[in-house]
Amino acid sequence: MRPLPTHDVMEGAEPAKISVLRLGHRRERDKRITSHLGLTARAFGADRIVLSGEEDPSALETWESVTRRFGGHFQSSYEPKPMSWLRSKSKSGDATIVHLTMYGEPWRDCIPKVPREKEVIVVVGGTKVPAETFEIADFNVSVGNQPHSEVAALAVFLDAWVGPLDETSRFRGSEIEVLPSPKGKVVINHEEE
Ligand code: SAM
Repeated sequence: MRPLPTHDVMEGAEPAKISVLRLGHRRERDKRITSHLGLTARAFGADRIVLSGEEDPSALETWESVTRRFGGHFQSSYEPKPMSWLRSKSKSGDATIVHLTMYGEPWRDCIPKVPREKEVIVVVGGTKVPAETFEIADFNVSVGNQPHSEVAALAVFLDAWVGPLDETSRFRGSEIEVLPSPKGKVVINHEEE
């Protein structure tokens, strides 16, 4: 098994503007939903996903493979101590921590208050999140106060926070490009050009 990159490997990289922290991943139970969470993060404009909970190289491989084929610079890493990582991010003041939770304040009210000049870390749970998350978060944000899914909550939040993406420039360097089409599939294979 190849070693998983941790966030430390990424210290020298460009500072990420939008990170998603996935708490409490369970390798078997959350396989598909965690995979979809990363794909949703990438597609809706996040710069990276930080996976925590059980180690799962296959999740990182999926995200890397999609990024290689469909372009852009989406990063993924594994963080064994997510709460220490969040605490240090919070202490540094370099990032705003947004925790998506059904218990939070309505997203339409919160979004205008989230500063745009520094990194945003969007935290989502799977199993019960540690109570401390509510304290560390600068904003506890709900997408409705009914229980649903981390993928749905993330998509709604990112769509509202990031706005429409210019996919051609964001996902530059792709092997495959999908063009919008009213019917059928229109796909450019840049590898064959
Ligand atoms: N039983 C779990 C618990 O105790 O929290 C349910 C977790 S829920 C399936 C997984 C994640 O989805 C939550 O941690 C939260 O990040 C997100 N989520 C679910 N419903 C949400 C809502 N209405 N607003 C915002 N986020 C939500």
